[in-house]
Parts: sequence; C-alpha cells; structure tokens
Amino acid sequence: MLEVRNIFKTYENKPLLRGISFSVAQGETICLLGASGSGKSTLLRMIAGLEFPESGQFLFNQIDLAQTPPHLRDFGLVFQDYGLFPHLNIFDNIAFGLKMRNVPAETIKPRVAEMLDLVNLTGFENRKVTDLSGGEQQRVALARALAPSPRLLMFDEPLGALDKSLKEDLLNQIRAILHKTKIPAIYVTHDQDEAFTIADRILFLHDGEIIRDGTPDEVWNSPNSVHAARMLGMGNTLEGRMKNAEGGMINVETRFGMFKAECNHNHSAGDKVSLLIRQSGEGEEIKLTVEDVLFDRDQFQVKTGSGLVIHMKDAPQVGEIIRVRVKVECLA
Ligand code: ADP
Ligand code: MG
Repeated sequence: MLEVRNIFKTYENKPLLRGISFSVAQGETICLLGASGSGKSTLLRMIAGLEFPESGQFLFNQIDLAQTPPHLRDFGLVFQDYGLFPHLNIFDNIAFGLKMRNVPAETIKPRVAEMLDLVNLTGFENRKVTDLSGGEQQRVALARALAPSPRLLMFDEPLGALDKSLKEDLLNQIRAILHKTKIPAIYVTHDQDEAFTIADRILFLHDGEIIRDGTPDEVWNSPNSVHAARMLGMGNTLEGRMKNAEGGMINVETRFGMFKAECNHNHSAGDKVSLLIRQSGEGEEIKLTVEDVLFDRDQFQVKTGSGLVIHMKDAPQVGEIIRVRVKVECLA
C-alpha cells in the first residue's frame, strides 16, 4: 500500500523532517504521534501532494506518486477545522468529490445517503452546514472524504476542536468505520489517548525522526526512549550511572540506591543512563515522602518529594513515608 521512503523537508534552513520512512498496509490504521510543530501536518500535506519534500519518495502499490497530482491520488483528508463548504448544503458537500469525478447523478444520490447512514446522519441532505454542531460537521467531513472510496484516508487532528465527551464518541465511530471499510488510514494527533484508541500501530515523531514504531501494546511496554516515555505521559524517569552488566540486565547507581534494569542499549560501565520507573508488585522497594495527593478517578495520584509520581488505592497523608515496589527499565 503506501510506502514513505526517507523523506527530508526543511523550512527556512531549519530541518523539519530528517529521513522519515514507514509504510501503511491494507486495512491498517497507523497513528503519527508528535508534539505541536513536529511536522505532522507537513508530512500529510506531502503525502496528499500539496507540498513536496527535498528528497525521498512516496509510493502507493509500488508506484511513485511524484508525477500524480493531488486530485488523482484518490486520498481522503479530514482536517481539524472540518473544511466544509459553507455555501453548499450537506448533500452537495458530500457529493463534491463524486461530481469532480463525473459520477452520474443517479449514482451520487444513493451514495450520499449511504455515507450519511454510515456516519449516523441519515436524512441530513438538505441541512445547512452552519446549522450543524461541531461533531456533526466533522461527521459530514468524514462522509465527504469517504464518498469517493479513497485508497487512503488521512486525519489531521480531527477531534482537536471538539469537547471531551464528543471526542470519545466520534473517535469510536471513526474506529468502527475504519474497521468496516478496511481503508488504510494515517491518523495524526498529539494526544496519546486518541492514539491508543485508534491505532493498530503508533509512530512517534520527534525532532524530525520516527523514534519508535510499534503496536500500542509494544510501545507502552517498551517506549525505549525518554521522549517516547514522555509522550506517553510516563513522567517517572530517573537518571543514573551504570555500574556493570549481568546477564542481559544492568546495575545502575541512582539516588534511590542500586537498581537492576532491563537494557537493550550498548552501555559501558560509568555511562549515564535514563531509567523508566513503573510501579510493580514484584519490583524492588523504595521509600518516598508524600508531598501532595490528588484525586484521580478510581485511585489517588501521589506526588512525592523525589519528584516521582505514583498511584495508590487509598490516599496517604502528606508528609507520610510510603514504601513502593517498582520495576526499572533502561530508556537510553
Ligand atoms: P504539526 O502539524 O506537527 O504541528 P507542522 O507540520 O504544521 O507541525 O509545522 C511544523 C513546523 O514547520 C512549524 O514550526 C511551522 O512553523 C513550519 N512550517 C510549516 N509550514 C511552513 C511553511 N509553508 N513555511 C515555513 N515554515 C513552515
Ligand atoms: Mg498540524
């Protein structure tokens, strides 16, 4: 399906993308997760053919897209700001791509009805764009993108403008539609919760490079870098110094004492290492002083004097010394 090969892009002498490569398989949804300004939209615009890289290639079914103008790529795009045509009614918005392709009117009508049904807006044909809520407008935008049966769907932070409960609903609808239609999709976001809900595979974009590419399960269990751990909201990182290696594990000296950590980097004795700390019933015990306690849905978030944040079923007292078992892995 889509193959992105070694893409480089620079704006005003500042390198933005530095050798991006990945592929999207039939029926697969990949999620590109990166901070604001990391180049996510630029990458989508280049895949759509609206902008060009300095070097690198985009291929679809092994065919280089360089000579294919945007309207002949058969890719659908859904943006954060919906991008609907305000002067057209809902029918004409969804029919737009079909009319551009000279699809006959008698085919367009049932197709628009089918798309409205798919996004749960049956009967909305004659409504005005301006009479719709944000969530409804985004569903129309999705129907418009789906109507011409695109070979690939791209979503650029499509839920960014919606409030939380609407976000969850629409995200689940998008997920169901992608599973049903099996259209390969690239979903761009800076929100890790969205990424975990929608993605078959998550790609972390940081500093112009893909620093991690794996299933949600794989990246959660092994983020493998400080930046990926931060993007996943895992705040508990700790610096230390490697003492020695022992059967696939390394011993690391930290301000909490010595830890045994899993490590797949090539560290030598004396190297600085970054560790990820996770609470785990079977890990080593450390002592922490409670500094603040926050209610966090079904548990309490406990900030401790050391900077580590842990979770507990029952709220401890501020100032109390608690014992926590943790497991440690090497991030870098
Ligand atoms: P993201 O979607 O991840 O937030 P963008 O791809 O929109 O990131 O932009 C990444 C960076 O590239 C930004 O710092 C932006 O200023 C810069 N940029 C984007 N488009 C242009 C352009 N046409 N000219 C110059 N700089 C640009
Ligand atoms: Mg963007």
